[in-house]
Amino acid sequence: GSGEIYDRMCELVKEYPDVEIHFGPEIAHGDGEIGIKKSGCHGFCEMGPLMRIEPHGILYTKVQPEDCDEIFHRTIEKGEPIRHLLFKRDGIEYQKQEDIPFYKKQTRNVLKNCGHIDAEHIEEYLSVGGYEALEKALFEMKPEDVIREITESNLRGRGGGGFPTGYKWSQVAGQPEKVRYVVCNGDEGDPGAFMDRSIMEGDPHKMIEGIMLAAYAVGAEEGYIYVRAEYPLAISRLKRAIEQAEESGLLGDHILGTDFSFHLHINKGAGAFVCGEGSALTASIEGNRGMPRVKPPRTVEQGLFGKPTVLNNVETFANVPMIIGEGAQWFKGIGPEKSPGTKAFALTGSVKHTGLIEVPMGTTLKEVIYDIGGGIKGDGKFKAVQIGGPSGGCLITPHLDVKLDFDSLKKMGAMIGSGGLVVMDDSTCMVEVARFFMNFTQNESCGKCVPCREGTKRMLEILERIVGGKGEPEDLDLLEELATTITETALCGLGKSAALPVMSTLKLFRDEYVEHVVDKK
Ligand code: SF4
Repeated sequence: GSGEIYDRMCELVKEYPDVEIHFGPEIAHGDGEIGIKKSGCHGFCEMGPLMRIEPHGILYTKVQPEDCDEIFHRTIEKGEPIRHLLFKRDGIEYQKQEDIPFYKKQTRNVLKNCGHIDAEHIEEYLSVGGYEALEKALFEMKPEDVIREITESNLRGRGGGGFPTGYKWSQVAGQPEKVRYVVCNGDEGDPGAFMDRSIMEGDPHKMIEGIMLAAYAVGAEEGYIYVRAEYPLAISRLKRAIEQAEESGLLGDHILGTDFSFHLHINKGAGAFVCGEGSALTASIEGNRGMPRVKPPRTVEQGLFGKPTVLNNVETFANVPMIIGEGAQWFKGIGPEKSPGTKAFALTGSVKHTGLIEVPMGTTLKEVIYDIGGGIKGDGKFKAVQIGGPSGGCLITPHLDVKLDFDSLKKMGAMIGSGGLVVMDDSTCMVEVARFFMNFTQNESCGKCVPCREGTKRMLEILERIVGGKGEPEDLDLLEELATTITETALCGLGKSAALPVMSTLKLFRDEYVEHVVDKK
């Protein structure tokens, strides 16, 4: 629908007499000028298509092509809000985007430009301070200063593990081998996760600038963005962004007239979840089958093409220009000291307002589900939330006050993962949830090691038996035994975490498993 809406609005402004018309990035908001532009995702998915009217700051939700004429003639011409297109919650009508509860509790730093700038034009990114951090680094900082700033900021990898980014970069910078690579992991494969996709589609230059700062810091001249082929819009916008950066002298040889040269390539992944694992990802870029390998050597020592490699995910890189621009102290002022900054989450499932959100680390689950998400859909009650996708675990009502940050979640036996939050209500069967995730990991197992290849298959068979009403009471012990063995012996993170949803649901909802087994008799 948004394409049709864009086209109709273009027709309307073209017909408008005696004004200057602008399309795309050259839009000005002065008297006698009208402009229209496409933007990336605003995050409020449940309410889309969205249209923001400037300079009023009005956000219209669930806009349809047939609403365009009314929007044009009433809001754009006369400044009148149209009530049926405004967002309403608990009897309150919201005109301004910033006042809507979904946005009010968020701190949108990484996603700041998504939904506000036209991702297809570099001028838009430049107009909001884009590439100033790169300029600052190239002209005012040595590579080691960049690493020091990132280390001091305590930025931790947003891909799931929470590994300190500055430490990773310093390890690459300290290798005797002088050919180094920077790789961006855009292979977001968790069911229900779309944070990285939104950044790549809505603000590709921010991530590219972060990659370039990493390259400058570690002395890399080549980099790759590994992005799944199922994200065609992200791929086309990244390609365009790279071309425009090259044309502007911001990528390529002697960037901004300095000695720093850097070339960036896009590598399309074929949609294998295991290629999110570092060694499988680099193998895939090299043209080999995407399979993890035994470590050491680690990626920082021998990564892509056997050379020292910085490998971070999209959201991690997107944080970097802000840290270099605003300083490590600014970043540390957001969230807990050991997990500073914000985190983007894909909020999905049985919550009223699903979407892409960004909150300071340390925000509680309750604030996310109730204040931002508006609570549980329909008449249902909150039952659980699956955090961290197929590698994560469940959190239940007593966990609602848990802070969402790396360390607090680790203590609970859960993990942030890449940031998927699937909310479930009391009608959800938790054994079926465990079966769903086991089916996913079983399908995605690369088959290299026996515990994962065979173990996940056997666990899936047992879960299917239980869900199908043919389970035996001993099956629960068997599930636990297999889960422990796979976790302890699988080669890579996919296998090591494959049993987590089963272990977590068995621990928290054992009675449901028992009911399934007993019911069939
Ligand atoms: Fe492949 Fe699974 Fe072994 Fe990882 S744990 S190497 S995905 S078989």
